[in-house]
Amino acid sequence: MPLDSSRDPRYDCLFEPIKLGPVTARNRFYQVPHCNGMGHVYPASMAEMRGVKAEGGWAVISTEEVEIHHTTEIAPSIEGRLWDAQDIPYHARMVEKVQQHGSLAAIELVYHGHTTSNRYSRIPPMAAHSIPTDGIDPVQTRAMDKADFKALRRWHRNAALNAKAAGYDIVYVYAGHNLCLTQHLIAKRFNQRTDEYGGSLENRVRLFRELIEDTKEAVGDRCAVAVRFAVDELMGPEGITSETEGREVVEMLAELPDLWDVNVSDWANDSVTARFAEEGYQEPYIRFVKGLTSKPVVGVGRYTSADAMVSLIKRGVLDMIGAARPSIADPFLPKKIEEGRMEDIRECIGCNICVTGDYMYVPMRCTQNPTVGEEWRREWHPERIAKAKTEGESVLIVGAGPAGLEAARAAAARGYQVMLAEAERDLGGRVTRESRLPGLSSYARVRDYRQGQLEKMEGVEIFRESRLTLENILEVAPDHLAIATGASWRRDGAGRALPLGLPGLAENPTVFTPDDLMAGALPEGPVLVFDDDHYYLASVLTDLLVAKERPVIFVTPQSVVAPFTEKTMEQHRIVKRMMDAGVEIKTAQSLTAFDAGRATLTCGYSGRETLVEAASLLLVTARSPNDALLQEAKAAPEKLEAAGIRSLRGIGDCVAPGTVAAAVYEGHLWARDLGEVIDPDVAPFLREERALPAD
Ligand code: ADP
Ligand code: SF4
Repeated sequence: MPLDSSRDPRYDCLFEPIKLGPVTARNRFYQVPHCNGMGHVYPASMAEMRGVKAEGGWAVISTEEVEIHHTTEIAPSIEGRLWDAQDIPYHARMVEKVQQHGSLAAIELVYHGHTTSNRYSRIPPMAAHSIPTDGIDPVQTRAMDKADFKALRRWHRNAALNAKAAGYDIVYVYAGHNLCLTQHLIAKRFNQRTDEYGGSLENRVRLFRELIEDTKEAVGDRCAVAVRFAVDELMGPEGITSETEGREVVEMLAELPDLWDVNVSDWANDSVTARFAEEGYQEPYIRFVKGLTSKPVVGVGRYTSADAMVSLIKRGVLDMIGAARPSIADPFLPKKIEEGRMEDIRECIGCNICVTGDYMYVPMRCTQNPTVGEEWRREWHPERIAKAKTEGESVLIVGAGPAGLEAARAAAARGYQVMLAEAERDLGGRVTRESRLPGLSSYARVRDYRQGQLEKMEGVEIFRESRLTLENILEVAPDHLAIATGASWRRDGAGRALPLGLPGLAENPTVFTPDDLMAGALPEGPVLVFDDDHYYLASVLTDLLVAKERPVIFVTPQSVVAPFTEKTMEQHRIVKRMMDAGVEIKTAQSLTAFDAGRATLTCGYSGRETLVEAASLLLVTARSPNDALLQEAKAAPEKLEAAGIRSLRGIGDCVAPGTVAAAVYEGHLWARDLGEVIDPDVAPFLREERALPAD
């Protein structure tokens, strides 16, 4: 029966309990393993983040991949660690946080093989053969012998026992993401062994089978044993495919595990950005699995739509709805569906900013959910925010981009009387503009969630088409003032490569900025796109120009195209798309002149100059904060005081242009800080310090 009568009964099936071996999940929502940049380095943060998701209704909460032994560590990446019993307490903390809300805790055990170089332990990693490790380290693995396989089985078994001691309900055997030895052995390209672990598929799957059997034998009385298996590597016959070995492995092991968690490999294929894949993109690869096993099947596909989830259950594609990113963007997604509060769901936009945290070895951040990673150190909760001591006071927020919208939403939740003024008719600022570009429509969700919330909150007034001046602000005379007026792309070429820009560009009518294109301007081709930003926008605008049949020459001072998008796992897709579209790519080249249809480029290595014919130039270099209003207000403290304005802060791009995630975070932080006494001389969050061992 629905808990809340406002829920449409068609979603009831999502709340049926599912038996997983010896344990039972309370509903069908399953947070699959995902990295988070906290892991064993920031364990209290990791545990709290997982606990919040359990509170939000996910029936199963999994760890990230967890190293089972010191011979398989991936420093400086921050994942989980269960090398031995010393690591049990931090896992026990996570388990406690998850189970206290009635959810099951799952752990994903991993042995990497050639996907680690063991930079910290300095022990040569081992694999089926002596081959170079993934990446660029000058390291090769050593080939495993019989004793190594035996030892590995023992280590995996010990880790399973330690996981059980920590209290986990589900223990994973992992063969996914092209990150682990079990999968490498199954894939012929990495396994040419001639012993019982090589040759036939039966032999190549042997270690995977043994680990599942060992784990069942060791902990299966109390823990469910799950497998995570990549049924397709999306590389055709070179790799595992869902028509060949992927399918055969599921057939061979069908009833052995208590749960099948299936996906595609590698991670970049499993977590594709919205720009390159739609919700549900994995279904064609994984849908065969349920036909081959009676055990529950979980899969992922960036599902945020309850209707899509119901359809997966009704059509017999999945038994449980797996999610990583949707659970990060909205830890309370299941609860909101359960209570029929669809309009409150904060949908993942598929930007992979969360992934960048992991790649940069810091706690993850999320564009949609500014509280992620802050649950423990700042005690931020995604759904609850304490009323302010000064609640009832008025705030005026100027600018309704991501920073202003989130500031308004969070300030209203804290009990302030909120006035939000926006110069344009549409709210959303840059996300509204960018969401009209090819592949970025999901960015509008940043606006839509916040606008939807603001429209139904008490004490909120929104003023559209209201470009405020300082005089207007003084007339309104709020108690608190936040200015979030955004930033504009520079027209002079200034940025990292050209700190001072180039003379003449700003006045040249054949020079364009992203703002021009987003406002509808269409440069004459060929267009030279100079990307000194290195994130997504230059390539998105290239897509736009290509769609408008403008030939493009893409120039970057970096040695690869859009290098920051390596951290969102899109870089290879961006380059392929450009190449397929016939875009001419020039790397390690800076712009040194542009005039009269001709650009001069200078090689970053040799200094050699080349001339390129281009009718127009699109500069994607740096942004100038739109801070005139902020500076004017800052320069007139006496006027603010006379109007009764007690606090003033600039937030988001009008202070420091950055990502949408950073602007949302800034807006949120401002609202959290309002009315609090903040000591600028001490860190505003708790720190996870390791105890200094005895001398
Ligand atoms: P951020 O990412 O920091 O939120 P955006 O550029 O997305 O920045 O949003 C800034 C918003 O502020 C834009 O929608 C812009 O129209 C609006 N804006 C700029 N100046 C004013 C002003 N003086 N009065 C009201 N709104 C303004
Ligand atoms: Fe989704 Fe982007 Fe948040 Fe990741 S950072 S969970 S992709 S909205």
